[in-house]
Amino acid sequence: RGRVDIQHLEIEFGQGTSRFKAVSDVSFAASTGEFICLLGPSGCGKSTVLGALAGHIVPSAGRLLLDGEAINGPHPDRGLVFQQHTLFPWKSVLDNVAFGLKMQGVPGPERTWRARELIELVGLKGFERHYPSQLSGGMQQRVEIARVLINQPRVLLMDEPFGALDAQTRLKMQQLLLDVWARIRTTVLFVTHDIDEALFLADRILVMSARPGRIIDDIRVPFDRPRD
Ligand code: ADP
Ligand code: ADP
Repeated sequence: RGRVDIQHLEIEFGQGTSRFKAVSDVSFAASTGEFICLLGPSGCGKSTVLGALAGHIVPSAGRLLLDGEAINGPHPDRGLVFQQHTLFPWKSVLDNVAFGLKMQGVPGPERTWRARELIELVGLKGFERHYPSQLSGGMQQRVEIARVLINQPRVLLMDEPFGALDAQTRLKMQQLLLDVWARIRTTVLFVTHDIDEALFLADRILVMSARPGRIIDDIRVPFDRPRD
């Protein structure tokens, strides 16, 4: 569960003479529970690769597989977290986190206990009845993570999720993410242009370069970190 296989992915944007390859011949496999960072400069196609996995972007060519099955279109078993907040401002933390289960028709009491469990996992116990506007940026990102995890995704897709946070909060969130990941061990694909972030988080770093966007290196992070 959570095995990702990308084969010869090509993604083009634009029309006519302005048509260009944003992603060129990207191939890699992520095994279950691996934490992979896609690292590279702005514009090298990191978000585009993630968007294709999320099912928001249709590839021009290549294959995208999750546990051997072709990916087409968005699905909650591929949870996406990005920089922008997507929380409903008129819903409490609890209702924001439980929302995905409501969509699936899960009964109320089960929604509540499962949401509470996730809220606790991201360190927000006690904030269930707060509204997003009452929370700091870091706390709102914790809610974003909880609301994606409640669907028990096979793969967690993160696109610079802490990019808008101040340095100190970002560090706390990176540690939190590793703590959460140590508990759930889901496959993570994490996009960043920050090499320190990639080295701190990842088991493995796929380095990308631009024009055309492609993978130029595949590095296994060799040293032990505090999490190990
Ligand atoms: P990164 O995430 O590495 O910063 P992106 O994947 O966002 O890079 O973008 C890769 C390239 O594709 C960039 O040149 C960007 O301008 C272009 N691009 C991304 N999305 C679109 C789109 N929807 N239409 C046209 N060009 C796009
Ligand atoms: P985070 O790293 O989660 O963004 P902050 O550094 O902003 O957290 O805040 C540190 C702690 O202060 C939080 O974990 C929380 O316990 C408390 N806190 C922050 N914002 C609020 C708020 N709006 N209401 C109540 N407590 C808060």
